[in-house]
Amino acid sequence: MTSTTTRVAFLGLGHMGLPMARNLAAAGYDVLGFDVSAGAGAAARDAGLAVAATASEAAEGREVVITMFAAGSQVLDAYRGGAGAPGLLEVSAEAALFIDCSTIAVDEARAAHVLAEAAGRRSVDAPVSGGVVGAENGTLAFMMGGADEDVAAARPLLEHMGARIVHCGGAGLGQAAKVCNNMILAVSQIVVAEAFVLGERLGLGHQALFDVASHASGQCWALTTNCPVPGPVPTSPANRDYRPGFAGALMDKDLGLAEQALALTGTDARMGALAREIYREFASGPGAGQDFSGIITTIRAAGEQETS
Ligand code: NAD
Repeated sequence: MTSTTTRVAFLGLGHMGLPMARNLAAAGYDVLGFDVSAGAGAAARDAGLAVAATASEAAEGREVVITMFAAGSQVLDAYRGGAGAPGLLEVSAEAALFIDCSTIAVDEARAAHVLAEAAGRRSVDAPVSGGVVGAENGTLAFMMGGADEDVAAARPLLEHMGARIVHCGGAGLGQAAKVCNNMILAVSQIVVAEAFVLGERLGLGHQALFDVASHASGQCWALTTNCPVPGPVPTSPANRDYRPGFAGALMDKDLGLAEQALALTGTDARMGALAREIYREFASGPGAGQDFSGIITTIRAAGEQETS
């Protein structure tokens, strides 16, 4: 699909969607956006994006329809339509390609593929990692699920929004990869924080632990990029009072999706389940708006209560 001829609808112009849509428009695609929030729509217009008045207007006759919503129910409702409004599937061009970049449950993603297929449309699930900075810089990582030919058709568009694109398998497997990766991330961020708190109590300096573990078998992203104590990695959120980064609320959301996937598959993942509980508690307070590495402050405080 070439940039000069492809007409794209981009729905969901929030923190991630707007910069992604702008990158696509800057690459020469004819992008028409829409957001149910009037504020998000106005911000997109101010940023120079063409914005439609309704979802139907945005998707009418479009060959590619991209969605970037917060929840799976929003994706399914928008695909189907309702309350007198036609769905995106119905109004889009024949054989249009649907690319859902939202992070949603694996079974919801599969349901979206089934709806698309029944309507004679093509579809891929393409959740992302890389956050708002990645969306702005066009350096997101896309994890894709869908048929080979549909993934191949989506790839040229995604290349303008991301730096890394992995085809993970069939319908829903992009979401599966996202949920598995974030479960690893949650567990490793917690245990790295626990190790720093243990080290503190044993009299071990932060830098000394970092210098050893970052070159030993404890090495991981949660330590070497998102180090939960200030100092060893100057760019980590710990150096700016845990300003995100990746907010606790988003980690809590993703672990909720992991929990659903664990239940769906009957997988015994005790570490993942415990991480889900820990981040649910963290995100029920100020942690919702902090970087998820701020979990170290609750680990430290909990230990202090027990020993006092
Ligand atoms: P956001 O809440 O800022 O944006 C979502 C937008 O979708 C909102 O503006 C909302 O009004 C709009 N929307 C909902 N239903 C709609 C509909 N039917 N039609 C048109 N617009 C509709 O969320 P975000 O931070 O941009 O995240 C989007 C997705 O990306 C989420 O699924 C999130 O989990 C995932 N994600 C976010 C990050 C991040 O750092 N923010 C990182 C990776 C993945």
